[in-house]
This record gives sequence, structure tokens and C-alpha cells, in this order.
Amino acid sequence: MGTRISAAKKGTKGAGQGKEVAVLAGGGAVLRFLRPFFEDCGIYRAVYYEKADLFLKHLSESPPAAVVVEGVFLNEVSDRITKIPTVAVISGDTGRGVENVISHHVKHYLYRPYVARDLEYKLESAILEKYTFEKLGEEMKELETLVAFGRIISSTLDPKELLYRIVKKIAEIMPVTRCSMIRVDWLHRSAFVVASFEDPSVAGIKLSLRKYPEIIRALTSKRPVVIGDVSSDPIMAGVKAIIEPLGIRSILVIPVFFRDKVIGTLFLRTSRTHAFNRSEVRLLNTITEASANALYNAFLFEQVEDEKSRLEKLAITDYLTGIYNVRYFSHRIIEEFSRSARYGLPIGCLMFDIDFFKRINDVYGHKTGDRVLREFAQLLKKRSRKSDVLARYGGEEFILLLPQTSREGAIREAERLRESVRDHGFRSLRSKTGITVSVGVAVFPHNAVKTHDDLIAFADQALFTAKNTGRDRVTVYEG
Ligand code: GH3
Ligand code: MG
Ligand code: MG
Repeated sequence: MGTRISAAKKGTKGAGQGKEVAVLAGGGAVLRFLRPFFEDCGIYRAVYYEKADLFLKHLSESPPAAVVVEGVFLNEVSDRITKIPTVAVISGDTGRGVENVISHHVKHYLYRPYVARDLEYKLESAILEKYTFEKLGEEMKELETLVAFGRIISSTLDPKELLYRIVKKIAEIMPVTRCSMIRVDWLHRSAFVVASFEDPSVAGIKLSLRKYPEIIRALTSKRPVVIGDVSSDPIMAGVKAIIEPLGIRSILVIPVFFRDKVIGTLFLRTSRTHAFNRSEVRLLNTITEASANALYNAFLFEQVEDEKSRLEKLAITDYLTGIYNVRYFSHRIIEEFSRSARYGLPIGCLMFDIDFFKRINDVYGHKTGDRVLREFAQLLKKRSRKSDVLARYGGEEFILLLPQTSREGAIREAERLRESVRDHGFRSLRSKTGITVSVGVAVFPHNAVKTHDDLIAFADQALFTAKNTGRDRVTVYEG
């Protein structure tokens, strides 16, 4: 027996060569045809069974590339071979045999006279059919997944919520234990979790890139990185001791691009080795591309938020001293004063003016004067309570609001701060020259204090008195 193909491929036949075909045949004419066919054919390696039970055992232990089954056995095995490419060989009566294979939904079959080329062609067709079917199935699954992601992407305008929905969906379709979206900050060589399926609370957590060589690799190569086995992949050599105990075996990192720049990665990890196949990587890549906009928006949103809070802070801060400016103070004193008036709570206001500050400028220069002002402001800030509101009122004048503080409390506080200033060795001043401060105190309730402006004006008046009565002292407005 010889066919054109098998003759040409004789050199490749032998044990262990070619695709395995499990043959279930009782003997006689069928085997007399099959044995030489497989012997001559270099493409397939046949394993013969005469009984259905051993044949089925083989199928469950190591599924072959195809099966060739004598028609009479179909009753016993047909429901176990539906997913395996099958060629039936009809032995007895052809008419009944054809009816039989059709009733078992076997599409590829031979009847007498058996022709080798026919079997060869039918085996090929059955295998190709299965491959095509599988591929179609995969593509359909991919399409369905992409449609699902399309729906998710248009489902919400909140970028963080969106990213969470994306990672959650990925975790649903892929058998992963951890799935997150990472934002990368190149400038600071750091990365942040922006969304995480396994634990939403880790969102915002900073990752030190040093501990994630696989992420670094994805960022530098700008390509997906697949770690099939953490314990043997050289990329992971430096960190596997940390990762292995977490039960992580395979990792997939897919870079996220925005206008050619990597802005983050999708980061999947699982406890199985070699968990991600080529088509999954391709699918995730497509999903990631589709999510890039959302990721970018999420980053933008964060940046805008950061910038907003930076500007807000800037707007209420005195540029030189770093404490609150008078604008913020005005706003707070209105609030605190009306609260005090409403609930009958006492409130104190301290006005500070550094003594002979002009001399500091004259002796040490304006720059040093600035440094002294900064140090002075920080000293007051450090020594006052968190709930007090300290601001630079102008030049070398500072104001401190003491909510819920009685007259005695305010005086005590003013004294304490005045002494702190006198005892402080200013770093900015080379010699041991100390500086002193005069403090004016006004408090509410007081029968002359009707508004928050009164409180400021009377503290200022008291300060004027302190200056005129010798400086380095605390004076209370008596009215
Ligand atoms: P006293 O208050 O004890 O009467 O004397 P003084 O020398 O402090 O007098 P005055 O309040 O009139 O002068 C304040 C000086 O503070 C005038 C100004 O040159 C200086 N000054 C105001 N703002 C700044 C600043 O931002 N930086 C520096 N270096 N100096 C400032
Ligand atoms: Mg002054
Ligand atoms: Mg002064």
C-alpha cells in the first residue's frame, strides 16, 4: 500500500512522530486497510484498540489529534468523541452502515472499497474542521468580550469607576487572582494602583517600581510581558523570593499607551503557571487599547485635582512665611466670630508686631530680614494650637485667632508666645541678637466688641499701647 503523500513522508514516520490517531477497530478488512495506511503515512502515529473501554480510557487520559472508529463501535463511543475529529470506517453492510454513522452525526466516513487517499483527505478535513471551529469559537468569544467592554466603556463618565468596572470584567473572563490598572509616573519612577479588582481599597496605593521588574520591562520594551512561571523566569530572579510566597506563578503586564507614551499598565497575576495563552494576550491588548482613554482621563482627573488643591492652598498661603495670608484670616474670623456670638463662646485675638524690625533689615540686609520673618512665623505656628488661626497680617505683623479661649487664656497664650520669641535663638541671625515682639490682645465677649472687625481693631489698639509703653510686652484692650 502506498499513497503519494505517505511515500514522500516516509522518512518522518516512526514512534513519537506525527499527530496521534486513536484507532478503534475489531479486525478483518478494516485493520488490513488501516495498518498499512498508518505505517506508510508519516503524518500520523496510530494507536490501536480493539475494545471500546480501553479506547475511551486513552481519550480521557490524552486526547488524540483524531480518531478512526469502525462504524460498529459508534454506539459505544459516539457521545465521547463529539469534540474530537472523527473518521468512521463502515465495515458490514454499506447502506445500514451509512445510516448508522449519520445517526451518530459523524460527517466523515469511508465505505468499501477503502481508498487510502480518501482516508487521508477525510482525516485532514476533520482536523481542519475542528481547528476552524475552535478558532471561530475563540473569535466569537473575543468579539462578545469586546462588545461587553464597549458597553462598559460607555457606561460611566467617572474614570475611576470605569477602570474598576474594566478590571472587574477582566477578572470575570480570565481566571486571574489579581487584576489591577497601574498608573506610571516616569518622573518619580513610581507607580500607583488606580483600580484593583481584588481589593478596591488598594486604589491609590503607591508601588515602588524597583520591586516590579516585570512592569519595568513592559514600560521599557513598550510590549506586553508574559511571565509563564515566576520561579524560573530570569526577569523575576531578583524578586521571586517575595512573590512566590504570595502564591503568584504567572504574570501578564500590558502597557497602556496614550499618544505613543506609556501611561500605565494592566497588571494580571495568577496562581497557575503559564496561565495566559497567545489569544488571551491579544484580546487583553485590544481591551487595554480601548481603555487607554479612560486611563488617561483618570490620570488627568487626578492631576487636575492635585493642581486644584495646590492652587487652593496657594491662594490662602502667604508666599514668604508659608502661613495663612490675611485673606484667609478675614474669612475665618467672620466664621469663628459668628459661631462665638451664636453659642456664647469666648474668642481671643492676638496682634503681633516685631520690635525694631527695621534694624534687622539695616544690619543684616533685607534677605536676612525675610528669613527672620519666615522663622518667626514658623515659631509662632509651632507654638500655637492646631485649632488657632495664624496669619501674616502684613509686613512684620502677625495675627492669631484663638477660638473658644477666655480672656485669661488669651493673655496666657500671648505671654507664652512673647517669651518663646524672646528666648528663641534665630538661626538666620549670625550673632546672638535676639528679637522681641509686642502683642496686643482683644477678647470677646466684651461690651465694646460688636463685630469681628472690632476684635481686630482693638487688638491693634492694644498693640499700639504695648509699643508705646516699652515694647516686648503684652497689652490687653480694656476699652
Ligand atoms: P517697631 O515696630 O518696634 O516700632 O519698630 P519697627 O522697626 O518694626 O518699625 P515698623 O513697623 O515701622 O517697620 C517695619 C519694618 O519691617 C519696615 C519694613 O522695611 C520691614 N518689613 C516689612 N515687610 C517686610 C518684608 O517682607 N521683608 C523684610 N525684610 N522687611 C520687611
Ligand atoms: Mg510694623
Ligand atoms: Mg515693628
